[in-house]
Amino acid sequence: MIIAVDGPTASGKGTISKQLAKHFALPFLDTGLLYRAVGWTVREQGGDADNPADALVACRFDSALLDNPDLRSEVVGGLASRVSVHPEVRMALDKRQKDFANQPGGAVLDGRDIGTVITPNADVKLFVTASPEARAVRRFEEMKRRGEPVNFDDILADILRRDERDTNRATAPLKPAKDADLLDTTDLTIDAAIQQAIALVNAKTSGRRDKDPA
Ligand code: C5P
Repeated sequence: MIIAVDGPTASGKGTISKQLAKHFALPFLDTGLLYRAVGWTVREQGGDADNPADALVACRFDSALLDNPDLRSEVVGGLASRVSVHPEVRMALDKRQKDFANQPGGAVLDGRDIGTVITPNADVKLFVTASPEARAVRRFEEMKRRGEPVNFDDILADILRRDERDTNRATAPLKPAKDADLLDTTDLTIDAAIQQAIALVNAKTSGRRDKDPA
């Protein structure tokens, strides 16, 4: 079973995807981490994230980098959003994601274009959203817990800037697949959101089993 989870930053899709993977005993790939690794590498190499040639060279990052906690920072998230605009970068990361999705037994992947581009034939597609304000509050709390300097207005502005870039880029923009189930987590606790996601997967897959000839 392939489960594709897409949505904007801080919508809860990462936590939901990890829990779906655990619940259904599937391997999980956070595809945002691949774009973050490219953004991080461009910076290390002294390149320009807005330059497609610099970003393409950075796609040859060492896989060990994916374990580096620095990739999770807001700054690297911003760089990831900039390099992910280039079609060359998306092409370079395409096979790795498709191979992961198509491994025997299936997988859970989360990102921005999983249901639309990477696994258009996924068994289940979820599009996880929340209002920009709710997402900014979550990011604010998360950063405060990590002891990072925080300013709510800056966080909200950054979320809106990233949404705008991810949604309006020409290649593989952030949008729900036509056959995706929407999950709005604005007013949900994370536990409630996970339970709803599990219920949506069960509803999709049991519907399919019901239709299978005996
Ligand atoms: O999900 P995460 O916040 O880690 O992603 C960082 C950035 O990488 C996103 O803002 C988006 O621009 C880009 N991305 C993407 N396609 C994906 C995953 C992430 O363009 N499948």
